[in-house]
Amino acid sequence: MEKNDVIGCAEQALLHTYNRYPIVLDHGEGMYLYDTDGKKYLDFAAGIAVCALGYGNEAYGNALKDQIDKLLHVSNYYYTEPVMEAGVKFVKASGMDRVFFTNSGTEAIEGALKAAKKYAYTRDGQAGFEIVAMEHSFHGRSVGALSVTGNAHYREPFLPLMDGVRFARFNDIESVKEQVTAKTCAIILEPVQGEGGIYPADPMFLQQVRALCDEKDILLIFDEIQCGMGRTGKMFAWQYYGVKPDILTTAKALGCGVPVGAFAMTERVAEKSLSPGDHGTTYGGNPFVCAAVSKVFDLFASMKILENVEKTGAYLTKVLDRLAAENDCIKERRGMGLMQGLEFDRPVGQIIARCQEKGMLLINAGSNILRMVPPLIAAPEDVDRMAQILQEAIR
Ligand SMILES: *Cc1c(COP(=O)(O)O)cnc(C)c1O
Repeated sequence: MEKNDVIGCAEQALLHTYNRYPIVLDHGEGMYLYDTDGKKYLDFAAGIAVCALGYGNEAYGNALKDQIDKLLHVSNYYYTEPVMEAGVKFVKASGMDRVFFTNSGTEAIEGALKAAKKYAYTRDGQAGFEIVAMEHSFHGRSVGALSVTGNAHYREPFLPLMDGVRFARFNDIESVKEQVTAKTCAIILEPVQGEGGIYPADPMFLQQVRALCDEKDILLIFDEIQCGMGRTGKMFAWQYYGVKPDILTTAKALGCGVPVGAFAMTERVAEKSLSPGDHGTTYGGNPFVCAAVSKVFDLFASMKILENVEKTGAYLTKVLDRLAAENDCIKERRGMGLMQGLEFDRPVGQIIARCQEKGMLLINAGSNILRMVPPLIAAPEDVDRMAQILQEAIR
């Protein structure tokens, strides 16, 4: 089929919730995607921070194929080996004690919010609890997740949302304290804000929020759906900061392409939280996606992904700082590891379009911020190539 026919037919059939780029992608290899005309794109978007292993990883593909031949789905009424393995590996890598696998990041947030409410309900014997969330946060599009998302534009048409959510300023402990009441059961935040524009938390802020939570028996929820799974150079951002949450969510790179997320908690929380009948999912964490999760953890270890993020991330930081210094239109570089943003003095749509023409995929995070969340296999040579294309696009 001709490219324009694919685009035309897709536009007729699909609900228009995205303004898609006029590219029809076909297959991938390593750091590169190929469209149906055979044009090659260096990928610094990774399907929105999902494809950590890049494209066409053979061991990953074979693990999926083997599981397809065996068993895709049985529901959560039964045990399977892949689900057990994914659970054991997740708990070990995250430092949490118990995990629940979901179909998406949004559903991981829903589970985390319910877990926090149930904890407080068990403790106090009554309901009516509040959540404190951050301005410019992003936690997902379902009603619960949208309720804690600090972006008026996403929320407005869907009001009223979930009751009892108060917003504080990120990296401002006084603002958080102002929003905490006797009814607060949890504080939810992204250690590195993603969609909101790549804003890392100040280490001191996280320590202060942790102390506040400890003092008042409030649960701290870290949304590591984007910044978790190696992006910062640690498996989870909390390990980078040394501030441990009570509840952790992740998704995106967890399955490296299959739809899977997770929320996890410490034993202390689990003892008073969700129990049989409180929560469930039909698909969530089925043997197929868990075979992927299990293989992802193995490959992160055997491919030394975290070491690579540290090395390439440090190089990316240096290269982006240089670009920022040399181009007046770039106001600031922010981020860590392989999760970085460049803030421009103008909307970045045109720059993204020119990069596509020149064979590179990038995405934004807010209108003026170019977001870089490449596969975690990126090498310094890929960073050089990216910088070269981006510099040409800026010119
Ligand atoms: C992407 C994202 C979500 C939502 O995840 P989905 O898989 O799209 O439902 C939630 N929180 C953060 C921080 C995200 O980056």
